Amino acid sequence: MRIPVTIIGAGLGGLTLARVLHVHGIPAAVYEAEPSPMARTQGGMLDIHDYNGQLAVEAAGLMAEFRGLVLEGRQAMRILDQGGTVLFEKSDDGTGGRPEVQRGELRRMLLDALPAGTVHWGHKASGARTLGDGRHEVTFTDGRTVVTDLLIGADGAWSRVRPLLTGATPEYTGTAYVETYLFDADTRHPATAKAVGGGSMIANGPTPDAAIFAHRERGDTLHGYIELTRPLDWFAAVDFADPAAATARIAREFDGWTPELTALITDSDTAPVLRPHHALPAGHRWERVPGATLVGDAAHLAAPNGEGANLAMLDGAELAQALAAHEDVEAALAEYEQAMFTRAANPPDESALLESVFGGSIPQSLAALFGDRTGTAQNG
Ligand SMILES: Cc1cc2nc3c(=O)[nH]c(=O)nc-3n(C[C@H](O)[C@H](O)[C@H](O)COP(=O)(O)OP(=O)(O)OC[C@H]3O[C@@H](n4cnc5c(N)ncnc54)[C@H](O)[C@@H]3O)c2cc1C
Repeated sequence: MRIPVTIIGAGLGGLTLARVLHVHGIPAAVYEAEPSPMARTQGGMLDIHDYNGQLAVEAAGLMAEFRGLVLEGRQAMRILDQGGTVLFEKSDDGTGGRPEVQRGELRRMLLDALPAGTVHWGHKASGARTLGDGRHEVTFTDGRTVVTDLLIGADGAWSRVRPLLTGATPEYTGTAYVETYLFDADTRHPATAKAVGGGSMIANGPTPDAAIFAHRERGDTLHGYIELTRPLDWFAAVDFADPAAATARIAREFDGWTPELTALITDSDTAPVLRPHHALPAGHRWERVPGATLVGDAAHLAAPNGEGANLAMLDGAELAQALAAHEDVEAALAEYEQAMFTRAANPPDESALLESVFGGSIPQSLAALFGDRTGTAQNG
């Protein structure tokens, strides 16, 4: 297949798609809402798995560049209780299959591997429609339009391309993160830096509706994810426009926890940022629509489980490979969707996840106690 591909969204899914298409000599144009590559910081660390994300990196021909981004030692993991007692600890011996990289650096790697001008910044899609001749038209918020034979929605959770294929919309899952950062933690917050350790830390409290996760990012920056299971109304009553008030309100939910851990809330160097988790219905799929499909969160948004970015990249790589392998675009899209729907409906089961994180050495009692928290702790 050699027709140009129009991709909406320059996240990890859309960029991997564009890069693997380029590897196969297929031109692509990517339209991205953000005004420039530097418009916003791109979030924290991602662990890129050997069974999905890394397969995409290989298909993109960027394994050497990827290895250069890996932050050594960050696959270490600690599990604490709310008093700071270490319940479980695993060091990073370099053999794990989930190396950690900074999301912004991974995105930069993909951008740098595309021909100049591939990404059209400052193009926020407002909608897409099918024209009578089978092609699709995308409208941008400033009134510009683009017409294409092959349209891929890689525009994330609130995709404007998705309505072309399905009426499904994301729903709140009941849980949110409040994100925080502690900079220069080894010198400014040594007790908290020690509690987090060299990689990821999970701290669970007496009830399952509140937890603290943290990552050691590049240098000694600690990235906190304060998880609360509360209705959206509860969060709406917290004044996030007033960082001090919001910090105090969130910290109250952790009364009685050790200050080493609550410092991830109270001592944040950045204003707390609320990130409610939304998801599409599990196992959601659609009937084939000629000349259009979705990748990544646009297709199968799920609550953070450590897989989303990995799946988005694998979707992008496999779609590009299918398009390269078939003269018939519809055959390529059908083959891609079949594999993508199956994969999205069957996330790795918890025991496989525990095995890959802990190398099979986690005691059963801890596995039961922490349920699905290990996947969440990989988030960032
Ligand atoms: C707090 C948090 C932590 C996470 N941690 C992890 C983790 O550790 N590991 C992991 O694998 N996954 C993680 N995830 C999930 C992961 O971030 C997503 O699944 C992944 O980013 C999806 O990639 P994507 O390319 O499909 O979408 P996105 O990354 O959302 O990219 C979409 C792109 O489209 C652009 N866009 C959006 N709307 C429009 C529009 N209308 N027009 C044009 N462009 C548009 C956006 O600006 C963006 O550049 C986490 C998610 C959250 C919220």
